[in-house]
This record gives sequence, structure tokens and C-alpha cells, in this order.
Amino acid sequence: MAAQKNPEKSRCAPETLAAAPKVKVGLFSLTCCEGCIFTILDLEEKLLAALPFINIVESAALLEKPLAGSEKLDISFVEGSVITPGEEGLIKRIREKSTVLVALGACAAIAGIPGMRNALPAGMEAKIQQVKTLAVRAKASPLSDVVPVDYVLPGCSINEKEFLLFLQKILIGWKPRLEDVPVCFECKRNQDPCLLLKGELCLGPVSFAGCDAMCPGNGAQCIGCRGFTKDANFSSLDALFKEMGEGKRERYNLFTYFNQLPEALKELKGEN
Ligand code: SF4
Ligand code: SF4
Ligand code: SF4
Repeated sequence: MAAQKNPEKSRCAPETLAAAPKVKVGLFSLTCCEGCIFTILDLEEKLLAALPFINIVESAALLEKPLAGSEKLDISFVEGSVITPGEEGLIKRIREKSTVLVALGACAAIAGIPGMRNALPAGMEAKIQQVKTLAVRAKASPLSDVVPVDYVLPGCSINEKEFLLFLQKILIGWKPRLEDVPVCFECKRNQDPCLLLKGELCLGPVSFAGCDAMCPGNGAQCIGCRGFTKDANFSSLDALFKEMGEGKRERYNLFTYFNQLPEALKELKGEN
């Protein structure tokens, strides 16, 4: 997942980093809970350690300035889904002025929690249309549906270690890369007991790792907040859930908690 930039094109070599001009960074929020930007701000002294190398020039959370002004940015981190026509315009402006655009967290990467509305049953969608007070697009979209995205840092919220490693790598001109392996890989590595063997549902086999299997490690099911892996075998996991006695609605709700319903499971949609 993520990372499409040319690894050979270094912004600056490690030894010249300290002498290089500061990298101009923007932190932006579209529709979301803003938890991903706050994960960055909560890094406190670790974030302060990066300040000799970066200059945060746009951030609604940190600076009282109009957003997406005319200043060019080296890296923009954007959290949230594109829900309103105004946000569509904003993300296009951010893209235009940013050398690197990073989708931050599940909302920006896969539409996340706001994307739940995309899987609503038709009747409920109609009811929401009746009470809505704000002009909204037909669906909540991840950034990549509207503009090209250079990198994705997934999760709800993002993983702080992953963010710091990403920042270090991009500052020295390396290509950040996330391994396309499932959460089960980390869960097994941590020797955590498997929830499936206890008769509980878990999306670990089809979900993108990088969170150190945080939920199963704490006895909670994985609900796929980091998106699905490329080679996920949805049919076989769904067949197992069915064997475990779960109904269509429960399986549909679990698979679409954060993600679009995979094509292989489209028959689950019928009863919803
Ligand atoms: S991904 Fe999760 S934590 Fe981040 S902004 Fe969206 S809802 Fe909040
Ligand atoms: S608990 Fe979930 S993540 Fe862990 S091994 Fe079992 S299915 Fe995989
Ligand atoms: S275990 Fe699953 S739901 Fe929990 S943080 Fe990791 S990917 Fe997200």
C-alpha cells in the first residue's frame, strides 16, 4: 500500500539534512474527528525534535491562519473524508500547492467512519437526506477518489511510530514503504491467542498490518481500520464466519465497518 514516489529522487541526503532549508509542512482536516492530527500533536517532544527540519506553516489546530492559502508546501498531511463540495475544492487546492500529499488515517485513505454512510440501506439514506442541513456529496470519498495521493498512512487513528518513521524517511529522501501483510502476521509474531479459535469474529486475516495487532493483542476483534490487503481471501473468511453461525447482516456490518464491501462478498448486500 502507499508509496508511489521515485525512491531515487532524494530531496536531500542525510548528511546535508541539517543544512537544508526547512521542509514546509501543512496539516489539514476534512470531515473527521481530527484524531489523526491530534495523534501527531500528542507526540509532543518527539514532534519538537523534528522542528529543526520542518516548518509547520499551515494547521488549523496550531495556527490561526486561513487554510490552503497560496504558499507552496513540500508535504501536506490531510486527514478526513471528502464529504462536501467545499471539501472537494479544498483538497484540489491542497493538491495543487503540495509537492507530496499524504492521506492521513482511515477517513482520508478509505473514507473510514464517514464512509459508513456509503453502505447505508436505501431507506435510511433517504431519511438522512430529509434531515440534512448541509450540502453533501452523493458519497463520502477517500482523497484518492478526488486527487492523486502520494502516500497513505492508514489506521484509525494513525500509528504514531509509523508516522515518525515515515517522517524520518521522507526527510532524508527515502521512499517510505508499508509491507502488504495481514494483521494475523503481527498477531502471531506477538503470540497472542487467536480470537477465531475462541469463536469470535476477527478481520485480521484480510486487514492491513502495521498496528502491531493492537486490537487482538487487547482481546478485541480487528475491524479492518487500516484497510484490506491486496490478496485478501474474503470468500474464505466469510465462509468461516458463516460456519461460526453469523448471519448475513452481522457479516455485512463487520466487513463494511471501515471499508467498501469487497466485490467477492457482494451477495451480502441483499438483506441490508
Ligand atoms: S481515521 Fe479515525 S482518528 Fe483519524 S480522523 Fe478519521 S475517525 Fe478520527
Ligand atoms: S486474533 Fe485475529 S488477527 Fe489474531 S491471528 Fe486470530 S484472526 Fe488473526
Ligand atoms: S487490529 Fe485491526 S482494527 Fe485494530 S488497529 Fe489494527 S487494523 Fe485497526
